[in-house]
Amino acid sequence: MTEVDTILTGGSVATMNGDFALFTSGAVAIRDSIIEGVGPADQIAAAYTADEVVDCSGCAVIPGLINAHTHAPMTLLRGLADDLRLDVWLMGYIMPVEREFVRPDFCWLGTQLACAEMIRSGTTCFADMYYYEEAVADAAAQAGMRAICAETVLKFPTPDALSYDEGLEHARDFILRWKGHPLITPAVGPHAPYTTTAELLQACAQLALEFDVPLHIHIAETAQEVEEHRAEYGMPMVPWVKKQGVFKAKAIAAHCVHLDEGEMHTLLHHGVGVAHNPTSNLKLANGIAPVVRMLELGLNVGIGTDGPASNNDLDMWEEMRLAALLAKGATSDPTALPARQALAMATIGGARALHVDESVGSLEPGKRADVTVVDLCGIHNTPTFLRDRETLYAQLVYAVKSSDVRDVMCQGRWLMRERRLLTLDEQALKAEAAGIARKIDTFLIQREESVLSKLLVIGQVAQEKTFEVQVKVLLTDAAPVESLLDGPEILVLKPSLRRQYDTYFLFDDPYHSRIRYREDELLDEDGRVQDVFYRLTLTGETKEREYVRSVLLSRSRFDAPATRSLRFYREYFQPVAEVEVHKERRRYHVRYGGTDFAVNLDRLTKPELPVVFLEIKSRTWSRQDAERKAELIGELLELLQVQEPELVRREYVEVAMEAERLGAGK
Ligand SMILES: [Zn+2]
Repeated sequence: MTEVDTILTGGSVATMNGDFALFTSGAVAIRDSIIEGVGPADQIAAAYTADEVVDCSGCAVIPGLINAHTHAPMTLLRGLADDLRLDVWLMGYIMPVEREFVRPDFCWLGTQLACAEMIRSGTTCFADMYYYEEAVADAAAQAGMRAICAETVLKFPTPDALSYDEGLEHARDFILRWKGHPLITPAVGPHAPYTTTAELLQACAQLALEFDVPLHIHIAETAQEVEEHRAEYGMPMVPWVKKQGVFKAKAIAAHCVHLDEGEMHTLLHHGVGVAHNPTSNLKLANGIAPVVRMLELGLNVGIGTDGPASNNDLDMWEEMRLAALLAKGATSDPTALPARQALAMATIGGARALHVDESVGSLEPGKRADVTVVDLCGIHNTPTFLRDRETLYAQLVYAVKSSDVRDVMCQGRWLMRERRLLTLDEQALKAEAAGIARKIDTFLIQREESVLSKLLVIGQVAQEKTFEVQVKVLLTDAAPVESLLDGPEILVLKPSLRRQYDTYFLFDDPYHSRIRYREDELLDEDGRVQDVFYRLTLTGETKEREYVRSVLLSRSRFDAPATRSLRFYREYFQPVAEVEVHKERRRYHVRYGGTDFAVNLDRLTKPELPVVFLEIKSRTWSRQDAERKAELIGELLELLQVQEPELVRREYVEVAMEAERLGAGK
């Protein structure tokens, strides 16, 4: 008789080993952190004695679940912003909040919260990628969980690094400090091809190889990213990433939604592990990864929840079930991705994908004792059929809920017994998380208060005002101005010809803010487009003064290149109304009397001018026609008031003023 510490006995033991050995009344013997024996309960009882014998009858005993891709600290951002497109969600909400709040203590608390949730749902190991990964590793280790922690490296400043050199240094320090830890495998996490550079990927691959640690990266998550990659580099994403040496390392590729057959072969050939994230991919409408094909080819595919801000939980049971259902739906084949395979993906498959299958992923002698005990006696799991032992897998994948998880052990240490967490204080974690949520609420409420703060927080605009004074005059004939420009008193410094497509977002805030998104085409002499500029301008309240036949506008502005799409800004700012104004502009930088000015001669091409406006302008009005003219102007004003927002009316301002003068003269 061999002495061990713990024997789990009487449950259905699904070993998930190479033969998928299953013991209906089985047992697992554990000594220290290691599994000593697995087999039929009577054989284990005959071979081992233990101080602690845990009755698992009515339960399934399975390897601890492995979450192959997540961002654990993002539990604290769960439910912050949902039902948005990826770019608006990420650039508009998540990243600004991260810049403001993500610090080591935030990551530590978020990870502890994540660990509580993961342990409750039977997960013992997760692959993480975030900032301040040191704090993630520490929080996970204190919770007693196993984690592959990748320090994120990006080409732009992050909450924990001002530059990518600094990010790489952090990753190196982190790996040095944690390498060899019994629970934590340090790793490097170049975020994605589109957020890194070739040099950065090469450096990360070098680092991973130097220390023989995994490299965790997002690949081909969205169709847009894949298209843009192809347009920029002239080749698909996977071969390009391979070219940077990334797959020489123990690579973990999250998502892989948009891959072609050749790319899948490349991943297979280089032993790259894939993390499939069905909920996140569906929630962000990124598509369905070709996992059935990947599995057919023999790729190591695990299942991940992705970060809890895009899921919104860390429940691997939901994820397993969805992976199975989605594969069937996507291939119109109910036999695709059967239950046993789904459970394998969440256990041994995940371990292989994360390059840790030597030590975890299945219940086999010599492996680490990471074990989950699932109570199968719930009403939703009744009855149980004994005819075919394999029905256990279907029960686990299609009927079990995370709340059925009864006991969880990691590295031979109990993390949960009878649904009571042993390493974490749930109440304290909840209270602290609520405190952080209130602070984030306050931050977002403040930023939503004004269009300006909302603009500033997406980190695009220098917080500096420029002031502008404009005199607008409506010309029926540009010739007099042109001849003045040709004359000797005015020095023309820089003439240009442009076509401008402006979209104005209007807001009914106290500042009457409006944002202009301008597509500015610079034309050559033959009218061909030479260059296009995109600018975003916030204008505040306008001060107006009237002069004869003209109006003086002065306004303050915040101005910046528009680096994102019109659609992004529309969804982010959610204006109350939108107006399009297109014009052809002849622009002159001039010097007159020692001062520089800009003179713009604009011809409005959209909105189309109302017929009545054209009629007013097309005639030379004699004194006798004054009444008719006033009538037409009245008609125009009415039309403008009804149809056109104030902004477009400004384009007709001269007519309006004329009308008022006529009215006053009556
Ligand atoms: Zn992710």
